[in-house]
Amino acid sequence: MRVLVTGGAGFLGSHLCDAFVARGDHVACVDNLSTGSLDNVAHLVGRPYFEFYEHDVSIGIDVAGQIDAVAHFASAASPQDYLRMPIETLAAGSRGTEHALQLAEANAARFVLASTSEVYGDPAVHPQPEEYWGNVNAVGPRSVYDEAKRFAEALTAAYGRTRGVNAGIIRIFNTYGPRMNPHDGRVVTNFVTQALDGAPITIYGKGDQTRSFCYVDDMIRGIVKMIDSRESGPVNLGNPEELAIAELAALVLQTTGSSSPIAYRPLPVDDPTRRRPVITKATERLGWKPEVPVAEGVCTMVEWLRARQGCRREHK
Ligand code: UDP
Repeated sequence: MRVLVTGGAGFLGSHLCDAFVARGDHVACVDNLSTGSLDNVAHLVGRPYFEFYEHDVSIGIDVAGQIDAVAHFASAASPQDYLRMPIETLAAGSRGTEHALQLAEANAARFVLASTSEVYGDPAVHPQPEEYWGNVNAVGPRSVYDEAKRFAEALTAAYGRTRGVNAGIIRIFNTYGPRMNPHDGRVVTNFVTQALDGAPITIYGKGDQTRSFCYVDDMIRGIVKMIDSRESGPVNLGNPEELAIAELAALVLQTTGSSSPIAYRPLPVDDPTRRRPVITKATERLGWKPEVPVAEGVCTMVEWLRARQGCRREHK
C-alpha cells in the first residue's frame, strides 16, 4: 500500500509512519511542521519507501501518484497549541479535512479521520460511548479544536454517505509516549519533566478531574487496525484506566522518586471534569484493546525524558 499520513511529523503521525514502513508499505508524509518536527521522522527521511512533503493541508495537498489509504492526523492537538493557533486549528479541521477527503475520493482510497474525545466536550455521560453526542461549548476557547473535529467528523460521514468514500472515524483519547513535545503543556510530559527537574508539579484546579491515558504503542496498533478495516465508526480508541490528575501526580512522584512539591494553579476554562472511553466497539469490531498499564507507560516516559535531559546536558 501507499499510505498518505497528514500530520506525519507529529507525535502520533510519526509513529504511524513507522508502523507502515515497518510492514513494507510506502508512506507519503505531509506536515507543515507547525507543531510537528522533522526530528520525529529524521530516521525515515531518505529511505526508499518514505517521502516527506512540507505542506499545509488547509491550503492543499499536492501529492502525485496512487494513494491507497489516507490517515488524516494534521492538527494541533495540545490545548496550549490550539489555543495559540485558533484559526489555523479550525482551518486544518475544516479545509484540511476536505482536501484530505477529496484526495481519498480521487484515489478510491481508504480514509481515516483522527478525531478526538474532545468531541464529547465536558461529558454529561460517563464513561463515554460513541452514541453519546457530547457537551461542547460552541464559543468557548476549546471550541476551536472541538468544533473543528466535530465538523471534520460531519464532513467525513457525508463523504462516506454521499460520495462513496470508504471513510472511518476514530476518537482518540489522551495518549502519551516518546516523541511528545515536552514543551506543549500536556500533563504527562509536564509532570515528568517537573519531577525530574525538582520543580513544582503544577496541578490545575483541585486535581480531581480525570483522564484515561493510553500508551502510544497500543494506540498505533488500534489505528492501523482501523485503517486496515472498512469500519466507518466512530470508534473510540483509548485506555479505560481512569486516573484523577492528582493520582497521576502521585504516580509520577513515586516513579521518579522526586520530592517536588505540588503547586495548585487555576483550572483552564471548560477543562473537562472527567473522561473515560467505552471501548466495546473497538474490541468487538477491530479486535483491539490496550495492553500497557499506565504505571508501566509512565515508567517508559520517565526513562525517555531522563535520556533526553541527559543528552542535552552532555551537549552543553
Ligand atoms: N493539567 C494539569 N497540570 C498540567 C497540565 C495539565 O493539572 O501541568 C490537567 C489539565 O487541566 C487537564 C488534564 O491535566 O485536566 C489533561 O490535560 P492535557 O493538556 O494533557 O490534555 P486534555 O485532556 O486537557 O486535552
